[in-house]
Amino acid sequence: MENSWSIKRRKTRRINVGNVSVGGDAPVRVQSMCNTDTRNVKATIDQIHELEDAGCEIIRVAVPDKQAASVLHEIKRGIDLPLVADIHFDHELALEAIKQGVDKIRINPGNIAMRSGRKGVEEVVRAAKDAGIAIRIGVNSGSIEKHLIDKYGYPTPEAAVESALDHIRFCESLDFENLIISVKFSRVPEMISAYKLLSSKIDYPLHLGVTEAGTSWIGTIKSAIGIGTLLSMGIGDTFRVSLTTPDKTEEIRTAYEILKSLEIRSHGPMFTSCPTCGRTEVDMLKLTKGVQDVLKDVKEPIRVAVMGCIVNGPGEAKEADIAVVGGKGRGAIYKKGKLVKTTTEEGLIDAFKAELDALGKESQA
Ligand code: SF4
Repeated sequence: MENSWSIKRRKTRRINVGNVSVGGDAPVRVQSMCNTDTRNVKATIDQIHELEDAGCEIIRVAVPDKQAASVLHEIKRGIDLPLVADIHFDHELALEAIKQGVDKIRINPGNIAMRSGRKGVEEVVRAAKDAGIAIRIGVNSGSIEKHLIDKYGYPTPEAAVESALDHIRFCESLDFENLIISVKFSRVPEMISAYKLLSSKIDYPLHLGVTEAGTSWIGTIKSAIGIGTLLSMGIGDTFRVSLTTPDKTEEIRTAYEILKSLEIRSHGPMFTSCPTCGRTEVDMLKLTKGVQDVLKDVKEPIRVAVMGCIVNGPGEAKEADIAVVGGKGRGAIYKKGKLVKTTTEEGLIDAFKAELDALGKESQA
């Protein structure tokens, strides 16, 4: 997508996660995490397919025990997306996940070292090196090492960054640099500060996220502000929007809306609608829903606007490829600011669909 206000992305190394590259010149990658019981292979594969259809590019699953670790190869066989194993505390699980053929492991070396010592972390790093896979060092504000909490007083951005840098140096001392790094906080200002600080010190790709962001409404706002602020500064190579939601595809849709809002990546239509006001002359809720239903399966990055009155609507929708403008019982369709059709209010959705199809044919010609 043409980026008229030119976000200059920070230069990072390119790291491969299976067949998907992260960092360097690669697009900012969208990822998610399953909420199925990993041991339930079918449910997990089904959810991964659903997330892939929505646009997910890298998928992570929790590996809480040996049984979950033992089915990773089966999950991998059933999917096309790169598979990431998320492991806490138990380095044996990380070793098993690597043996099972995952494309990356996510560990917090601090909590692995707590249980198995640095020796355990070393074994994992060496196994990842032999397998040629990447490791994400995932530092979370809630699990920063005690000596750093003692040093900084509480989990500060500086503490999180120092923790990440310690782990990075340890991996580098083992000649392992196939790394992606995250320093997640649930508080947005600290999350932004931590990533800004980290990005000034290293050139490994950064995985962004606001951890425990909350339910759809709150989590979307926190993620859009936290992740969006960093992306607007050119920081971040991949990210996950974390939402407490029954429909995990919402994380993917939200992620792409963040990218589309910043004009970093296109993914399907860019939709705008007027907020309505005292001049509104049409049932806007019905009209926007009708237009969005038509757009549901559209993959092209077209700009669509729905406006509520004939007075200001056409002017406000000038930027749109297609604008649907309501009037008093009648409405109009505009293409790139030019009136192409007037019709009854009831006929607007059909007219929109016809113009959309025509636009698709024009762009193929
Ligand atoms: S397009 Fe018309 S109805 Fe919608 S907010 Fe603007 S003036 Fe109000």
